Amino acid sequence: MAEEAIKISGKKQSTFMDKVREVLPEGGNLNLCLTCGACSSGCPATGLSGMDPRKFLRMAALGLDEEILKSDWAWQCTMCWRCMYVCPMKIDIPQLIYHTRKSWPRENRPKGIRGSCDMALKHDSCSAMGASEEDFKFVVEDVLEEVRNTQVGWEDLQAPINKQGAMFYVNQNSREPVTEPDEMVPLWKILHKVGADWTYGTKGWAAENYCMFLADDAAWKHIVEVKAKAVDDLGCKYWVNTE
Ligand code: SF4
Ligand code: SF4
Repeated sequence: MAEEAIKISGKKQSTFMDKVREVLPEGGNLNLCLTCGACSSGCPATGLSGMDPRKFLRMAALGLDEEILKSDWAWQCTMCWRCMYVCPMKIDIPQLIYHTRKSWPRENRPKGIRGSCDMALKHDSCSAMGASEEDFKFVVEDVLEEVRNTQVGWEDLQAPINKQGAMFYVNQNSREPVTEPDEMVPLWKILHKVGADWTYGTKGWAAENYCMFLADDAAWKHIVEVKAKAVDDLGCKYWVNTE
């Protein structure tokens, strides 16, 4: 089915463009687009809701903020940054999309992302699935014991928790301990084989941060601060976020 044409009646002021110029070094380079289409060709969200990154940027440049906000495409972007990576002018389209998301009232933003962010704010575990510090510890210890007892050659496998002074603090996506606990084991084995000095922490163990995807700056910051504090409190040198 043919897409409905967007009517342009004179160039308008773009709030999105202005907002992004405020946060990018030297105002960004949003006007340097060559319309080459490299961004759109590699974007996993191209074609969804009749949109692609090049079209999105052109619409913003033309001040079509209202038309942009009628589309839910900004929420279909994965924030993968592929568009920016391939762009010959290194135009920060994800930043533009992020600011579009911020223009939505919080209560109108996608329920799934909003619910995951809100859930993460409830516990110091930062788990978007609501798994607590105790839940995580229990699952890790349970899976570790099973591997040690049933897999030949892995009797001394380690999955340390709250190991003070470890070199690496490793985060874990909630999906594994909650729905696929065995999926944690390959990473433990790799770390074991290379002799890494690592640990999980009970506080701030969850790697995901849906508050970032929700474009909720305050909540995003809070989640990062809780996790960073957990790393510092254990005296770890490096924070390895598996997301
Ligand atoms: S890759 Fe960059 S220059 Fe090319 S169309 Fe996309 S934004 Fe414009
Ligand atoms: S960041 Fe968004 S717009 Fe850019 S390539 Fe990824 S999905 Fe597409």
